[in-house]
Amino acid sequence: MIMRSRFLFFCFALCSLVLLSTGCNSTSSKALTSVVYDSISADPAILAPPSLLMDKLDSLKKGLLYFPPVDSINKIEPKVARAMLKDSIYRELKKKPKHIYLTFDDGPLLGSLAIDSIVTAKGVKSSVFLIGKHAKMSKMLSRSLQKYLENPLVEAYNHSYTHANHRYQTFYSDPTAAYTDFVRAQEELGLKHKVARLPGRNIWMFGDVKRLDGRNGGTTAEMLHEDGFQVFGWDVEWRINGRTGESEQSVDMTYKAMKSYLDKNISLYPNNVVLLMHDDMFQLPKAQHKLAALIDSLKQHPDYSFEFMTDYPKKY
Ligand SMILES: [Zn+2]
Repeated sequence: MIMRSRFLFFCFALCSLVLLSTGCNSTSSKALTSVVYDSISADPAILAPPSLLMDKLDSLKKGLLYFPPVDSINKIEPKVARAMLKDSIYRELKKKPKHIYLTFDDGPLLGSLAIDSIVTAKGVKSSVFLIGKHAKMSKMLSRSLQKYLENPLVEAYNHSYTHANHRYQTFYSDPTAAYTDFVRAQEELGLKHKVARLPGRNIWMFGDVKRLDGRNGGTTAEMLHEDGFQVFGWDVEWRINGRTGESEQSVDMTYKAMKSYLDKNISLYPNNVVLLMHDDMFQLPKAQHKLAALIDSLKQHPDYSFEFMTDYPKKY
């Protein structure tokens, strides 16, 4: 009722303006536009650049759209109504905290001890998706696993026992064998969280969310999900050559990609962004400094917080 009165008052004021300015009794949208623009021209704002005048005109037009009486809602194009709703949701989301998930795959490997030290020094939560057989390859890797398991800033999850031996299509063509491979990793690594990421696949299956990547692996994910696992993929990937320490994407590019995913709401879940990295990226000091620099850039935002995948997604 209030909105209707407000609209009627607005219409009355606008019509008066039309009649006073031109004596025209037409209320077609074309006439309204031209009259409102003329009335602005008579304003001292005539000295303002044309773009400012158009802004003023736009805001008047938006005013008409923003307070529609109930029976005029149907006259708004569905496309415009959807855009308005999307805009208002985005405006609300922008005001809320943002959540960063640093995830490291394929450990324990050379690079794991450095990751453990850096995230500890920076005081940020991290998620590591581990491969069962890697922990048995050497004493150092076994020690790396223990460091991860004992670090309160690190949560360790399942990335299978064999990593499909890098033959993904074959691995997932036998979902029962693939599922059993995950069960073996869960037991031998002594993992307490039922969280998994499928090797070579960006598949999400948690709660009632199910997102496949067009390749096989969906049945394995379903078997894990039925067994109580949350299966997570990633939004942004950062690649560094572990042997040279050279990045395919610089620290700045990776930071900007993450920020853009948050700002434009293009991650799987709004205001939550999952970054994929690999443990073997951080073998050399050069690459380790890049990881520290990326964390520093993200920490500059007071509304960004670092979370474990077990808390994904943070909702309001
Ligand atoms: Zn992997």
